[in-house]
Amino acid sequence: QQITQVRSGPERARELAELDARTLVHPHSVIGAPAEALVLDRGEGAVVWDVEGRSYIDGTCGLWQCPVGHGRRELADAAAGQIAKLEFYSSFGDYSNEPSIRLAERLLELAPAGMRRVFFTNGGSEGTETAIKLARLAQHNAGRPERTIVLARTGGYHGMGGGSLAATGIDRLRAGFGPLVPGIEFLGKPHMPPGDPDAADRLVAELEERIERIGPERIAAFIGEPVLGVGGMVPPPDGYWPRVRDVLRRHGILLIADEIVTAFGRTGHWFASERYGIEPDMIVTAKGLSSGYIPMGAVLLGDRVLDLAGGAPFLHGFTYNGHPVGAAVALANLEILRREGLLERAERLGGRLLDALRPLERLDHVLEVRGVGMMLGVEFTDGDTSGVQAGCRAEGVIVRASGSSIVLSPPLVISEEQLDTLARVLTAQVEAAR
Ligand code: PLP
Repeated sequence: QQITQVRSGPERARELAELDARTLVHPHSVIGAPAEALVLDRGEGAVVWDVEGRSYIDGTCGLWQCPVGHGRRELADAAAGQIAKLEFYSSFGDYSNEPSIRLAERLLELAPAGMRRVFFTNGGSEGTETAIKLARLAQHNAGRPERTIVLARTGGYHGMGGGSLAATGIDRLRAGFGPLVPGIEFLGKPHMPPGDPDAADRLVAELEERIERIGPERIAAFIGEPVLGVGGMVPPPDGYWPRVRDVLRRHGILLIADEIVTAFGRTGHWFASERYGIEPDMIVTAKGLSSGYIPMGAVLLGDRVLDLAGGAPFLHGFTYNGHPVGAAVALANLEILRREGLLERAERLGGRLLDALRPLERLDHVLEVRGVGMMLGVEFTDGDTSGVQAGCRAEGVIVRASGSSIVLSPPLVISEEQLDTLARVLTAQVEAAR
């Protein structure tokens, strides 16, 4: 009732913040000691406004989900039209709906060669859970039940579910939740320290040595993000992915590309798998698929995994998989990305932002400025970057502190002027951080 009686202006803001603090547990917050929330009210393009009417340039799309920008009437209409027609019906078994069917067809048109089918989800973690389960099941069905181990990487992030958290290689996110799903083995962080030309050689040698040590006959799959996201926006070393792919294929190990952040334009391609020559057996997507207007994800399944898994039941799924409203929004969203040439724009504007931030590398406390397309990171030599996040917010710019990195992933529709403001504000805050 208090919500419906909210006042306007600062009073409304105060009332909502107090109510939030009393009632909500936010993801990634301290239970019982909530931070004072920034209560957002509306958005348009690359700008969001809080309930007091203050505007912020959105440098992160929340959690990287909004390539087409905020406030798109076309996506609201797609959702409303589908809700009015058929809001939902379960896709379990032999029920289906037209938006899901059309979206699966469209995704397979856009996907790299070799992708044959689509399994819909509500988001990222459900997708990585699905891929890990299906990799194990496929090996099992193909008569290799001892192939259960999944190779993952330090610094990788695959979600917060049982299997997806077990495959996440960030210690602070795993602490206290044990025992986690067993059978995950971690490789080193796939990072090319500045000026190290041997990074790919080292990482591939480590992979080969680890497969040898475990025994390839015990390994089901390898999971990795083409570009580390939560791990600090880390592009792969040159030549890394084709070499990893070849090693895995030689040993009959399935390759899962977690493209939950990278798919749908952020790296200048529909899929980063194309950009880096990954040729995965499964591609997990979410976020940019619907631009976050509604929860929606999809796992794309390739020939090899279908051949291995074929002919046996896949007793897996979540109530809202194949949601017609999510699919209708995703179809409209993919059309905007195509029509407005946003993939090319990501490449061009990402380069501009990287050039603007590169001079920060001269500072002693900055280790590296890096990125690909509209995924960029500024890594500090040590410690926490949350002060930079807070300082930028006070100046009307949203960036994200992720461990020792500040990560950026603006909407692909951001204007050059907004991008330059983002770079200027962030530069000043990073300079002031020491
Ligand atoms: N994988 C990657 C690479 C992600 O960045 C995320 C979320 O940020 C996930 C998986 C988990 O997705 P969700 O939070 O939608 O479950």
